Amino acid sequence: MQLAKTIEPAWLPVIDAELCVSDLNCIQFCGRDVLAVDPETLKAAVRNPQNCVTLCDACAHICPQDAIQLPDKKRFQASLAGIVNGRKFSRPG
Ligand code: SF4
Repeated sequence: MQLAKTIEPAWLPVIDAELCVSDLNCIQFCGRDVLAVDPETLKAAVRNPQNCVTLCDACAHICPQDAIQLPDKKRFQASLAGIVNGRKFSRPG
């Protein structure tokens, strides 16, 4: 059985550890268990990237430090449209 390839780019938050002040609001806010405390830095980090909801950017909006970045929505959607239109994906067969 052939497995489908992962479609790139992925929709994921990126946390700037230098801007993060460890208030952890984002971890409590996200109901998808995407984020967690990094035990080494004690700052927010991505733990379960597969749970992130495509085109959600809620955690970035609640961060007072602007420490969470997500892809630009319009560019991401255009990229996905290009993948689909160009059939740059494989179907399980
Ligand atoms: S973008 Fe949405 S689903 Fe993903 S970590 Fe942030 S709040 Fe959670």
